[in-house]
Amino acid sequence: MARNPRYDILFEPVKIGPVTAPNRFYQVPHASGMTNSLPRVRAAFRGTKAEGGWGVVCSGYCSIHPSSDDTPLPFARLWNDDDIRSHALATDAIHEHGALAGVELWHGGCAVMNRTSRIAPLSPSGISWASTHVGFMSNIHSRAMDKHDIRELISWQVGGARRAREAGYDIVYVYAGMGYLPYEFLLPDYNQRDDEYGGSIENRVRLVRQMIEATKDAVGTDCAVALRISVEELSKRPGTSLETEAHEVVSLLKDVPDLWDVKMDSSPTDCGPSRFAEEGSHEPVVNFVKTLTDAPVVGVGRFTSPDAMVSQVRRGVLDLIGAARPSIADPFLPSKIEQGREDEIRECIGCNICIASWHDCVPIRCTQNPTVGEEWRRGWHPERIAPKGSDARALVIGAGPAGLECARALGARGYDVTLADEKSEFGGRLLFEAKLPGLSAWMRVRDYRLGQLHNMANVELYKESALTADDALTFGFHHIVTATGGKWTRDLWKEAEVPGDALRHAKVFTPNNIETGVELAGKVAVFDFDFYYMGGVLAEKLARDGCDVTYVTPAGYASAWSIMSNELPLVHRRLRDLGVDIETLRRVTAFDGDMLSLADVYTGERFEHACDNLVIVGLRRPNDELARDLFARRDEWRDHGVMSVTAIGDAHAPGAIAHAVHSGRSYAEGLDQAPNVVPYKLDEPFASIVE
Ligand code: ADP
Ligand code: SF4
Repeated sequence: MARNPRYDILFEPVKIGPVTAPNRFYQVPHASGMTNSLPRVRAAFRGTKAEGGWGVVCSGYCSIHPSSDDTPLPFARLWNDDDIRSHALATDAIHEHGALAGVELWHGGCAVMNRTSRIAPLSPSGISWASTHVGFMSNIHSRAMDKHDIRELISWQVGGARRAREAGYDIVYVYAGMGYLPYEFLLPDYNQRDDEYGGSIENRVRLVRQMIEATKDAVGTDCAVALRISVEELSKRPGTSLETEAHEVVSLLKDVPDLWDVKMDSSPTDCGPSRFAEEGSHEPVVNFVKTLTDAPVVGVGRFTSPDAMVSQVRRGVLDLIGAARPSIADPFLPSKIEQGREDEIRECIGCNICIASWHDCVPIRCTQNPTVGEEWRRGWHPERIAPKGSDARALVIGAGPAGLECARALGARGYDVTLADEKSEFGGRLLFEAKLPGLSAWMRVRDYRLGQLHNMANVELYKESALTADDALTFGFHHIVTATGGKWTRDLWKEAEVPGDALRHAKVFTPNNIETGVELAGKVAVFDFDFYYMGGVLAEKLARDGCDVTYVTPAGYASAWSIMSNELPLVHRRLRDLGVDIETLRRVTAFDGDMLSLADVYTGERFEHACDNLVIVGLRRPNDELARDLFARRDEWRDHGVMSVTAIGDAHAPGAIAHAVHSGRSYAEGLDQAPNVVPYKLDEPFASIVE
């Protein structure tokens, strides 16, 4: 199909200093969990985006010196020449498809703890980051940099830039954002120096200016030099000559960088989950930048709609459409727009499982795109899949995220597939979850797959088809896949983090009861030891429905695991705004329909609360009755021509939707392939040049 002329503007080249981006699709630097230790995994991951049409593909944060050591969080590095080869693999993979490669050179200052290098963290004035996230806390404080340290820092940046050029990068960054060292010089909270680097805004900008100029000298005309800067906090500070300090910083540096990459300050606003932030949420904070500089500007906003992208360019907000998450969820987003296939875009749902992977210190995962991070190690591709290995026919029972992805991928391989679900609509758990407050974008997981399935002549779809083991065995399929989901239990949480027995009472409910239409009123307690979104979002829903809600959890925070997905502070704020009482470090010990008994998880101190209804959001178990029935009748399989029965997704092991989608894909990729003990290739770092 031809490209819609409305989107032509997105395919215009953009000059960035001495280099030219082939189009306006710019994959901004984003963490991938792929360090120099996984060079092939990383190269394939970034290369796939270039293949999908991104005109610029950048690295994740890349340390310039061992004093910027974020371990255990995964960061790239260009500390010495030994590190060049690993990056060159990625730049080659990016260049192969005509894209430019960018590298986000980075010094973390006092936002890193140098856990491995054991070098005292550096900061402008010896003031450390007051993090409340345990993953970023430390028991060492930073030391104030003297002039010699500043000269050293600039020399590390120069060394990193030279090595970046050597590795084949076309765009080299100075990174003054997100609490990292050059950013710390911009903010008086960190920068209380009384020399020429502190005090006035001109002085606070000095280091960033010197870093850009030194980087330009280092790379000459081979590379563009970009400045990545967080402007959210600076925008809140009134300026002396211009509206805000952000305006002053941009106007002071104006055309010093070849490119402005503008962003927010903290992870929850910069990488806002869809539950709390709309597409384009950065615009009101960053839209002034283009009015003050002639250099091109790139920014993000979880853009998945080409119309929204065009609007950004036409209204003069951005020159280049930056994306991290939309490029993860669909590395082929630009190609699909180019080919007039925008209805096939696999839109990011804004769940932030990708960022959670970085916090988990592992290679990136994505709910929408199960192939991410698997390009090299498992050979998966977001748009292609190996043809079928036999003429076997497959029955997939259950059309939630696992069943949908499994059927779609099997269909794409060319198998004859039947997908059946007992409900009147496809989507499984999404039918309920996407209706919870703020989660409507999650339905994209179903909609993308259903859209693809409807176009496959070899796939049959059956709604309102509750299947039994008898049905499954006698319908004449060779492979049976049970994707029948999971269910919440009424189990409690005992002391010492051990699950307890089920709490049985007519007024004790689970999310499944709410899903099937139970309406609660009066005083409702939500006891959450699932720790992810469900407890918090149900408390929100019930409060919106008019209930008087108390949220109880044995963890220290509401929705404690959602610190990983950037949601935690936003959950707390939302629950407080809705008047929900939050009781942390408490476990439920009993409930009699009128009174809820709680105990402090550490001291055992007892508390009582008047309560009409209790919702337990704790353990989930698989809906594995069908699979168990089928396995119990294994002797009959051969007579019916059945070769395999496999449970996938929540029916196998309940978890986040990302796991279900991956599980569905994994089954489809593996059908008729010889299994391996280690189901993926193991990447190795390159050995040092000097051993
Ligand atoms: P997952 O996240 O693993 O995909 P879901 O809970 O989202 O799991 O989806 C499971 C789907 O399986 C639901 O739509 C449910 O209606 C369907 N299902 C469960 N048991 C059967 C059955 N015996 N026959 C047909 N569909 C079933
Ligand atoms: Fe988007 Fe979620 Fe995928 Fe991240 S994990 S790219 S937020 S769909």
